[in-house]
Amino acid sequence: SGKFFVGGNWKCNGTKESITKLVSDLNNAKIEEDVDVVVAPPFIYIEQVLNSLTPRIEVSAQNAWVGKGGAFTGEISAEQLNDIGCKWVILGHSERRHILGEASEFIGKKCSYAVSKDLKVIACVGEKLEEREAGKTFDVVFEQLKAFADEVPGLPNVVIAYEPVWAIGTGKVATPEQAQEVHAAIRKWLKDNVSAEAASRTRIIYGGSVNGSNSSELAKKEDIDGFLVGGASLKGPEFAIIVNSVT
Ligand code: 13P
Repeated sequence: SGKFFVGGNWKCNGTKESITKLVSDLNNAKIEEDVDVVVAPPFIYIEQVLNSLTPRIEVSAQNAWVGKGGAFTGEISAEQLNDIGCKWVILGHSERRHILGEASEFIGKKCSYAVSKDLKVIACVGEKLEEREAGKTFDVVFEQLKAFADEVPGLPNVVIAYEPVWAIGTGKVATPEQAQEVHAAIRKWLKDNVSAEAASRTRIIYGGSVNGSNSSELAKKEDIDGFLVGGASLKGPEFAIIVNSVT
C-alpha cells in the first residue's frame, strides 16, 4: 500500500569525509522514480547532507526530544529539525528502546509531538529473539503499535518499520514469509484498532539485515512496502540496488 519507501539509517556512523563520498555516490546513483527515499545521518551531519544531497532523496533525524526544547542537555527538538529543514524523524528504534531504555509510552509521546510539528515519522516496532521464541511476537509488536496509535489519532504521516531485534545487524534476515506474517498482522491490527483507511494508507517497511541480495525477494511480499536499511545504507551503490528492488 502506498508508494514503496526505502530508508537508510546511518546510525552513529560516518565522518565529514565519508559522508561527502556517500552523498556523492547517492547523487550519482540511478534510482527508480516510484520510490520514496529517505536517509538518516547523525544529527551533526544533517545540514551537510541537506546542503549536498539531491532533493530527490529526503533527510531524516534518528531521534527527537519528546516536547518543546529547553533545559534538556544533549537533546534536539522537533522545532530545531524544522528550523534546519529536516522533514523526517525515526522514533522508537530498537537501539533506543533496548540500549537507551526508552519505553513505548515515551516513544508514543515523542511521535505525537513530532507529528504535531509536521514532521513525518518512521515509527519502529519489533520483538527480541527470546520474545519470538516464547511465542510473544504479536503481543510485543501490538503493545508497541498501541503506544503510537494511542498518542497519535489516525496515525497521519507515519511509516511503520517492523524491525525484529534478532535480525538487526546480525546478518540473520527474516525470511520473506516471517516478515510478511508480521506485516499482515500489523495491517490487520491497524484496520481493527485505527481505521480501514489507515490500514490501507500506512506503509509497513521491514528492517534487519536487508542487503542488495535479499531485498528483491522480500519486496515481492504483499504487505512489505519498503525497507529500513542499516549497514547496507552506508554503501551508496548497494543502497541504490535496495531502492530499486521496488516491484
Ligand atoms: P541492519 O540493516 O544493519 O541490520 O540495521 C537495520 C536497522 O536497524 C535499520 O534501522
